[in-house]
Amino acid sequence: MRACSGCWTTASAYQRQRAYFLDKPAWRLCRAGFLLLREKTTTMDGEVLVLNNDFEPLNVCNVRRAIALVHLGKADVLHHSDRLLRTCETQAPSPSVLKLRHGVRRPMPQLKLSRRSVFARDNYQCQYCGVTGRELTIDHVLPKYMGGPATWENLVTCCRRCNAKKGDKTLQQCGMRLKREPRRPRYIPYISLAKYVAGQKNEVWRSYLPVMPGIGENPLT
Ligand SMILES: [Zn+2]
Repeated sequence: MRACSGCWTTASAYQRQRAYFLDKPAWRLCRAGFLLLREKTTTMDGEVLVLNNDFEPLNVCNVRRAIALVHLGKADVLHHSDRLLRTCETQAPSPSVLKLRHGVRRPMPQLKLSRRSVFARDNYQCQYCGVTGRELTIDHVLPKYMGGPATWENLVTCCRRCNAKKGDKTLQQCGMRLKREPRRPRYIPYISLAKYVAGQKNEVWRSYLPVMPGIGENPLT
């Protein structure tokens, strides 16, 4: 059976996904005998937390991938989200958290020091005044010209106003104080630090994401 050139995916993958929430065939043959799929689903762009079989958070995937994993018998849905997957005929709750049936082994993740990782560690808040927002930058606590290294212990999230105020001075020279001591995260998640911190804002996901001391906490509370 050939797929119609207008199809967006193969029939088998499409049917597996549809079979998750539909028992009717997802396709018909067009006049030329090509496989014609009824429609694209357009609400498959949510994110799904994937846990290993020991509940270790492994990955964040999209809904399409999640439904494929469930239908292939590789994972079970632990929680649904309040979003609905719509087709022309029906709708069903979208998965939010999956657990793999068989454990997978992955090498220990490496935690890369990057702007995004430092922002995520600091919960996207200026470590001097606590302001949040898009106008954030990275500050060397001990200035670069004084030999301040680019390390977890010397880099903090900083708003532009505090950054300008601090300039090339040390904390003692400018009289500013950090809300908390910057440290290297002890727990290294398999999923990216930025996604991990974002995931902790999801009430359902939070219970599956171990609390990382010093990560994503509000320094003002
Ligand atoms: Zn600030």
